Amino acid sequence: LGTSLRSSLDKLQGKTRLDEDDVEEIVKEIQRSLLSADVDVSLVMELSDSIETRALEEEPPGGTTARDHVLKIVYEEMVALVGDSTALPLEPQTILLAGLQGSGKTTSAAKMAWWFSTKGLRPAVIQTDTFRPGAYDQAKQMCERAEVDFYGDPDADDPVEIAREGMEATADADVRIVDTAGRHALEDDLIAEIEEIERAVDPDRSLLVLDAAIGQGAKDQARQFEASIGIDGVMITKLDGTAKGGGALTAVNETGSSIAFLGSGETVQDIERFEPSGFISRLLGMGDLKQLSERVERAMQEAQEEDDDWDPEDMLQGEFTLKDMKKQMDAMNRMGPLDQVMDMIPGMGGGMMDQLPDDAMDVTQDRMRKFERIMDSMTEGELENPRVVGQERTRRIARGSGTDEETVRQLLEQHSMMERTIQQFQGMGEGDMQRMMKK
Ligand code: GDP
Ligand code: MG
Repeated sequence: LGTSLRSSLDKLQGKTRLDEDDVEEIVKEIQRSLLSADVDVSLVMELSDSIETRALEEEPPGGTTARDHVLKIVYEEMVALVGDSTALPLEPQTILLAGLQGSGKTTSAAKMAWWFSTKGLRPAVIQTDTFRPGAYDQAKQMCERAEVDFYGDPDADDPVEIAREGMEATADADVRIVDTAGRHALEDDLIAEIEEIERAVDPDRSLLVLDAAIGQGAKDQARQFEASIGIDGVMITKLDGTAKGGGALTAVNETGSSIAFLGSGETVQDIERFEPSGFISRLLGMGDLKQLSERVERAMQEAQEEDDDWDPEDMLQGEFTLKDMKKQMDAMNRMGPLDQVMDMIPGMGGGMMDQLPDDAMDVTQDRMRKFERIMDSMTEGELENPRVVGQERTRRIARGSGTDEETVRQLLEQHSMMERTIQQFQGMGEGDMQRMMKK
C-alpha cells in the first residue's frame, strides 16, 4: 500500500504542475490505504474531495515541486481529519474511563496513571468493576507494577458506592482515574450505571477506550457514550497488533472529540500521547511522510540550539569556511540519508543542490563520519582558513583523526568544490537567492 502511494508520488518527481490524472491516481491510493485501515467511507470521501480540489486549484508556491506540494496538501488534510490530541493539562483532575469489555480500560487506567506519574503528578486508580471476576486483582496488580495508588473493594457490589468511597480514599492523589465495568454489548443497565458513576465522581474528562480493531462498530458505541456521559477524548488500544485504528476516527467524529492516548502493549509503560503525524503515517502505510519533515525540523532545531548564530544564509554572504561545512554536515547527519533530505527542503530539488557536481553529493554516512572526525582534529585556524593545510598538517590531521591523508585531501577538495558553487550563487541577485533559500 505504502509503496504504491509512494510510487505514485515518485512519478511526480521533476514535475512542476499536477494534471487531473496525477491527482486521481494519488487520491485513489490514499483511499485504498485509509479504507483498509478501517477509516469510515464517508470520512474517506470527504478527505479525498478536499485533497483533489486543493491539489488542482492551489498553485504550488514558487520553488515547490508538484510532489512536495501534493504531499503538503495530503498531510494538512490528514491532520485536519485526525485532529490534535486531546488537551490534558498537567494538573489535578478526575478522568472517567468508558468502553466495552475487553477494550482495554483496566490496562489503560494503570497506563495513564503511570503516564501522569512520569509527569510528576500523583495518580490513583479507582476500580469500580464489580461485574467481572478478577477485575479487582487485575487492576491492583497493574497499579502495583505502575507504582501508583489504587482503590478498590473486592467485597462490595455497588459500583457507585465504590466510586464515591474511592474519591474520598484517594484524597491525596492529584489525578484520579476511574475504571468502570464493560459488557459485551451496550446494555441499558451498563449505561445507567456509568451515568450514576459519572454523577458520583464528577469527572473533568471522560475518555472512551477503543480497541484498534473496532472498525465501524465504533459509531454506535461512541454515540451511546456521548449521549450518556459525554466523551472528551479517545484512547486507542492494541496498536501493537495489525489493526491501524482508523475506526477510532469514526468515534472522534461522532463525539466531536479527539484522540488522547495510544496503547501499544500489555505493560504499563506501553502508552503514548497521541500525536497526529505518527498516526497519519500509520494510516497511510507510509512511514516517511511526516518522519522526514520531522527529521528536518528536529535537525533545524538542534542546529539552532547548538549554534544560535548560524544561519544557512550566512554562507551565502561571506566566506564559506570549513566550519560552515561542518555545521552543514552536522545538520544533515541528524536528518538522515541525504537524497531523502534534499527532497524535503523546499526549493532545493530544482535549486542549488542540483547544481552541485555529483561528486559533492556523494556524502555517504560513513564518509561523513570520517569527515567529522577529521574536522574535530583540526585547529580553529585551519577550520577558518583551510588553505593553510599543507602536506605536513595533512599528515598530522590524518594521524590525529585515525583516518588517512587521502581522506583529508578529499575533505579539502569537497570543501573547495562547495565553496566555488556558493561563490557562484553569491553573484546572483537578492531576489533569486530568496526564492531559492525560502519556501
Ligand atoms: P477491559 O475489559 O476494558 O478492562 O480490558 P482489559 O484492560 O482487561 O484488557 C483486555 C485485554 O487486552 C487484556 O488481556 C489486556 O492485556 C489486553 N490489552 C489491553 N491493552 C492492550 C494493548 O495496548 N496491547 C495489547 N497487546 N493488549 C492489550
Ligand atoms: Mg476492566
